[in-house]
Amino acid sequence: MTERRPIIGGNWKMHTDLETGMALASQVADAASTFESCDVVIYPPFPYLQAIDSVISTTPLALGVQNFWPEISGAFTGEVSCQMLKDLLVRSILVGHSERRHVLHETDDLITKKVKFALAEEFQVVLCVGETLSQREAGKTLEVVLGQVRSGLDSVKTEAMEQVVIAYEPVWAIGTGKTATPKDAQSVHKSVREELVSMYDERVATSIRIQYGGSVKPENAKELFACPDIDGALVGGASLLGESFAAIIGAAC
Ligand code: PEP
Repeated sequence: MTERRPIIGGNWKMHTDLETGMALASQVADAASTFESCDVVIYPPFPYLQAIDSVISTTPLALGVQNFWPEISGAFTGEVSCQMLKDLLVRSILVGHSERRHVLHETDDLITKKVKFALAEEFQVVLCVGETLSQREAGKTLEVVLGQVRSGLDSVKTEAMEQVVIAYEPVWAIGTGKTATPKDAQSVHKSVREELVSMYDERVATSIRIQYGGSVKPENAKELFACPDIDGALVGGASLLGESFAAIIGAAC
């Protein structure tokens, strides 16, 4: 692992209920307190944010969200604003997750707008990028991933890049039990870093944290985290089990 501070995210998606969510948050907070050399963020469903904040507010665990709407306020039925999230002490926002791109049909333009908006509101933004299986099989992995990085960060200034984390999540590896080999993941992460040199500069490229996501579990975490350009993980399924998530945190710290 390099001198970049690893960051482990737990994306709960549309899982848990109030009771199991609070118990899980408490277990993860205990694990995060044990390992001080990395950042740990959980992304629970919206309705449980306030209750979960009451469990973790005095711990090193940070609160994040899976979505928001990039306007101050207004007639956006069903949506949640940045101010509402600030009221709940949310610090981190996932943008461009593959389920929002491919299941909920968010466009590159919307993702670009969300990244800019959330950064202006001083949130940490985790920009998720990744290729589908057919894009990978067509040899388009880098074209797709680097294109999503360029478009997601379109007109984001160098100063704001300190608040950005990138999550490389091959779509075919999310929730499928298939993981990119450490060698394949490392190679994409390295290319993302090289792209950031050309978009920004060496300092931005070497200091930005790039998480890997896609069926990360205790059994494969250590090997992935040993790669020089992998700075932690965004975890779905395994973040719903306190022991598994704690083991993944332990592997990164
Ligand atoms: C995710 O939701 O970002 C994810 C990587 O899920 P899983 O770990 O279940 O593949």
